[in-house]
Amino acid sequence: MSKVCVIGGGAAGMMAAIAAARNGHHVTIFEKNEKLGKKLFITGKGRCNLTNACEIEQLFASTISNPKFLYSAFYGFDNMQLMEFFRELGLKIKVERGDRVFPMSDKSSDVIRVLEEELKRLNVDIKYRTEVEEVIVSDNIVEGIRIKEQKKDIYFNRIIIATGGLSYPATGSTGDGYQFARALGHTITKLSPALVPFQIRESYVKELQGLSLKNVQVTIRAGKKEIFKDFGEMLFTHFGVSGPLILSGSSYSIPYLKKGELTLSIDLKPALSVEQLDNRLLREFSEVQNKQFKNVLDKLLPKKLIPVMIKISGINMDKKVNLITKEERKHFTDCLKNMEMHIEDVRGYNEAIITQGGVTVKEINPSTMESQLVQGLYFAGEVLDLDALTGGFNLQIAWSTAYAAGNAIQ
Ligand code: FAD
Repeated sequence: MSKVCVIGGGAAGMMAAIAAARNGHHVTIFEKNEKLGKKLFITGKGRCNLTNACEIEQLFASTISNPKFLYSAFYGFDNMQLMEFFRELGLKIKVERGDRVFPMSDKSSDVIRVLEEELKRLNVDIKYRTEVEEVIVSDNIVEGIRIKEQKKDIYFNRIIIATGGLSYPATGSTGDGYQFARALGHTITKLSPALVPFQIRESYVKELQGLSLKNVQVTIRAGKKEIFKDFGEMLFTHFGVSGPLILSGSSYSIPYLKKGELTLSIDLKPALSVEQLDNRLLREFSEVQNKQFKNVLDKLLPKKLIPVMIKISGINMDKKVNLITKEERKHFTDCLKNMEMHIEDVRGYNEAIITQGGVTVKEINPSTMESQLVQGLYFAGEVLDLDALTGGFNLQIAWSTAYAAGNAIQ
């Protein structure tokens, strides 16, 4: 039997503790907050999208950084096993649009409650309001941890670092695990907020604040290289753009951000070809020949977007529709098919769903999550250089890596 220390009582920490305790180990969780799962509580807008009921291939396809590393962890404890795990704990679950899995009650607190009940049943010791300051290692073998303030060392022969990333720091995820790992010789890859809104250069976005667009196509380019293209929903904010489509796009854009200019192009009418859209404009203009340009676009565009699109097109808004030239009409069609803006940056960790980057997976055993540098040291969850799209995939990474770590402990 090992004496196991789990640093962090988030999704990964709780799962790792359960897996280790079920194998008969003596487990203690150290959590700096006054309760477990503070971030888990706010996931899925308080409903907790705990996984995705997709085929296993889709778990890999939805992982952005290092999907291959997850082969053993996903096959060892996949989304179906995860759902069974929660059902066995008494949590009723449901599958929604896009195979997103939620608790039937729509309450993330129920997910936390069943995990807490299981931890209690397994006699896992939980130290609340206890911040770990240092991981103590001797001759490349773990020895224990040092607690902040108490300046007290506690001895353990297995340590699982499950301290999360840097996003939403108010939940307790302040990147401590990266410091621990670095101090022990691990490499931390470049860290960035991900699944995060974009800051846009064009000032007109402010005028569009609050406007939500459905069924649009967004393309992100680095110079001429297309790095993201998808169809769905987005919204404008006072600083730029956000919404599901943008969050996904952000995770693909981060590696390119500092290298040069990124452009974001919105196709406002993706269901129509340029020719079909031009024909539609021609038809609509011919029905209202004497009206001014600014007064004929309400069937085509949301109200808020009309003055902005007119400004972008450079066409005089008071011009009578029958005086608009073929070239002007064609140019307007192009503007609707390619509303192009410039990405200045991503927003900060306070608005990011996840951290991209982390403890490099090159130094971690993918079957056990054990460090290849320090014996008895394991990592699980967001602290690792792993991130995925929205839809329950990030939590599945946390559950699977944590299960692998907890279950591997001898
Ligand atoms: P965390 O949940 O961050 O837990 C880390 C824990 O470690 C924290 O409790 C922290 O207090 C503790 N800790 C840190 N340092 C120390 C220390 N030194 N000593 C003691 N304790 C420490 N993913 C999904 O799949 N589905 C969703 O619906 C979803 N919604 C999200 C919504 C929001 C707003 C956000 C921000 C994220 C969302 N995510 C979602 C992502 C998901 O929350 C993370 O992938 C997941 O929480 C990572 O789990 P973790 O256990 O690795 O880290």
